[in-house]
Formats: sequence, C-alpha cells, structure tokens
Amino acid sequence: MRFIEALRLKSRLFLLFILITVGLVLLGMVGAIKVGDMKNRIDSLYFGSLIPVTELNEILDAYNGKILPSLYKAKQGRITKEEFSSILEESLRRVQKRWGSYKNHYKTREELPYVSYASSEISQTNDEFYKLLELAKNRSTLEKLAVSVLERKIEHVDTVVKKLLDYEMGYAYFERKQFLEHYKTTMYNIGIILVGIIFAVLFVTYYVFKSVQNEQEKLEKLSKKLHQANKKLENASYTDSLTGLHNRRYFNYIYDRELKRAKRERNYITFMMIDIDFFKQYNDTYGHIAGDHTLKIVAKVIKSCFKRPSDFVFRLGGEEFGVLLIGVDELGSARLAKELTKTVKEQAIEHKASKVAEVVTASVGVVSCIADEMLDGEALIQKADEMLYKAKDGGRDRYMISSEIYGNAKDTEEENLEDAA
Ligand code: GH3
Ligand code: MG
Ligand code: MG
Repeated sequence: MRFIEALRLKSRLFLLFILITVGLVLLGMVGAIKVGDMKNRIDSLYFGSLIPVTELNEILDAYNGKILPSLYKAKQGRITKEEFSSILEESLRRVQKRWGSYKNHYKTREELPYVSYASSEISQTNDEFYKLLELAKNRSTLEKLAVSVLERKIEHVDTVVKKLLDYEMGYAYFERKQFLEHYKTTMYNIGIILVGIIFAVLFVTYYVFKSVQNEQEKLEKLSKKLHQANKKLENASYTDSLTGLHNRRYFNYIYDRELKRAKRERNYITFMMIDIDFFKQYNDTYGHIAGDHTLKIVAKVIKSCFKRPSDFVFRLGGEEFGVLLIGVDELGSARLAKELTKTVKEQAIEHKASKVAEVVTASVGVVSCIADEMLDGEALIQKADEMLYKAKDGGRDRYMISSEIYGNAKDTEEENLEDAA
C-alpha cells in the first residue's frame, strides 16, 4: 500500500470517494440487471404456467361443471331446452375462447404434437355438442336424448385436458423451483459483491487512515524537533558565547520586565555594573587569550555570588558585567557588592600591570532603591554607571552604592556602608 502513502491527503480521500462511488454504481447496475432478470422469470412463471393452468381448469369446469350437469337436467326435464341451449352455447364459447388463448402461449417443440391432438379432440367434441344444439332447436323436448355417447366424449376430452393440466402443473412447479434457485443465486451474488465492496472500502480506508496517522506522528516528531531547535536558537541568541552568561540582548528583554514587576510589587530593585580594573593593561601584558580566560573566571565568580532564582547576571560587553537583583535592599546589595569584589580579588589572578593590586580586581557601581511609578529604567542604569566611575575614581577594587537615582545627596562610599553592615 506504498502507493497510498505516496498520495497527498486530498488524493487519498478522493481515491476513497471514487472507490465507494464505483462500488455503489456497480452494485446498482448488478442489482438492476438481476431485478430485470427476476421480473422476466416471474413473467414466464405467470404466463408460462399459472395462466395456462387457469385456462385448462376453466375448460374442464365448462365441460364437467356446466355442460354435463345441464345435459342431465335437460334430460330429466328440470330445465327447458332454451335454458339448456343457452348454457351449452355459452359454455362452448368459453371453451373455445380459453382453448384459443391457451394454444397461443409459447409451446415447446415437444408439447406441440400433444397440443394439436388435444385441439382436434376438443373441436370434435365441441362439434358433437354444436350438432346437439341444432337438434335441440328442432326438438320439442330433450327428455329422450341419448347422453351416453356425449358422456363418453366429455370423459375422453376430460382425460386429454387433465393430462395437459398435469403437464402444465409439473412445469409450473419446475419453473417455481428454478425461480427460487435463481433467486438464491442472485442474492448470493449480490451479497458477495456487497461484501467485496465493503472489504475493499474498509481495506483502503484502513490504509488511508494509517498513513494519515503515520504522517501525523511524523509531523508531531518534526514539530517537537523544531521546537527544541527553536529553543536552542533562542538560548544561543540570549547567551554570551565566551562566558555562558546572559548577553545584552537578554538584558534588554529582561530588564523592562523585571522593572515593571518590581514597580507593581513596590519591591527593591538593584542594578550593579562591574568592570575589571586595568584590563587593557592585562591584555597588553598577558595577551588576548589569557584575557579571555580571565574574563571567564571573573564571569564564573560573579555567577557564584548571585545564585537566587531572581538574580540575573549579564555580560554587557567587553569586560563589563551587569547584575540585576529584585527584593534586596541597599544594605544587602552593598554586602553582595563587597563580597563580589573580595571574591574576585581572592582568585589571585596575577596582574603585574595593575596600579591598585598585584592581582586582578574589579570595581562595582551599585544602585538600589524601591521601585515606584516615577522610577526611570534608563536613569537607574546611568546612576549605576556613574557609581562605577566613582568607584574607579575612588581608587578601584571597590564598590560605590547609591539609593538616590536623581541627584548625589545619598551616594554612599564603601567604607561608610561597611560600618553600617
Ligand atoms: P579601567 O580600570 O579604567 O576599567 O581600565 P581598563 O583598562 O579596564 O579600561 P577599559 O575598561 O576602557 O578597557 C577595556 C579593555 O578590555 C579593552 C580591551 O582590551 C579589553 N577587552 C574588552 N573585551 C575583551 C574581550 O572580549 N577579551 C579580552 N581579552 N579583552 C577584552
Ligand atoms: Mg570597561
Ligand atoms: Mg576596565
């Protein structure tokens, strides 16, 4: 059934439709032919046997039921000769009419000799009665009529016609038997065709549905793969390839979202800007590859300092990192920033060219405040940047924190907060 699978869904359904249509048309045609055939057989049974049987019975009835009793009655004087003549005339006419009709039905070659024999016997008998009819007209009474010859004539013709009747009855039984057999065969044939069509339709339907199901499964697998690939792509587009941290693109995406959430919840929002001290000199001294390696270590350190699910760490570009925290107050933020600078220094990555230490250090600009409706996201970042520069100016290897976004009033230096902590 590969060929079904090769078809498109529309073509498959069309194939099924064609198959059902062809099947029904075939069944209709066979049915019509068989019903027509059956009608012919019923016709032949009716006109070939039942009508002839009725006609022969009527002939017998005319002889035995009408002519013979009226003959006796006339002889006994129970009916007048006029009444007798009328009955006889009427009965003979009936016999002739029925016999004429009977003779006209189709006869086989074997039947013909006997039919013509019966015909001559009937007409001879009838001739006798026509003579009697003439006689009756001239006689005054029929009481002296000799009936024995006529009796014998009727008896003979009765035997002849009964023979024919037996034959016709036998033929009728034979035809009926044949008709029933034919009916059975016809029903059987139609049944077989019907079953054949049903099986063919079921067979094709099964394959059509199976192939549709297969395709559906393939499609589902494909869409799953596509989904995974999309996810990978999305991750890649949001991840910094050197450090594995979120990149600036992700920062842009997440920053707005988190700021809005903090505003809704009136929660603390903290943004830190981290910059490695004298990193240009580091590169110049140890080379770019060593610089990259150090960037990775610093990224790892920053990541290890901010592990909560609501903490976001980004590489914003070059040797600059960003940290976004929600729900951490000024004091907590200061502590974390201090911890961060400490941990970077503790890595003891040699940096001979640094003017503040023998090892790699970082400066951090921190801004932390409760997010209200008035809070502007850009201003928050600018303030963190400003604090970073203050930290640099203040001697590097330190943090500077502010909770005031607009103005300098509450900028706090590391040492002051350390006391507070
Ligand atoms: P400061 O203490 O004032 O920050 O001094 P700095 O030398 O660190 O100054 P600045 O921040 O302006 O210098 C950034 C340097 O960081 C320039 C470049 O050599 C280095 N850098 C930026 N991106 C990369 C990077 O992806 N890999 C490496 N190895 N170095 C980088
Ligand atoms: Mg820099
Ligand atoms: Mg720097």
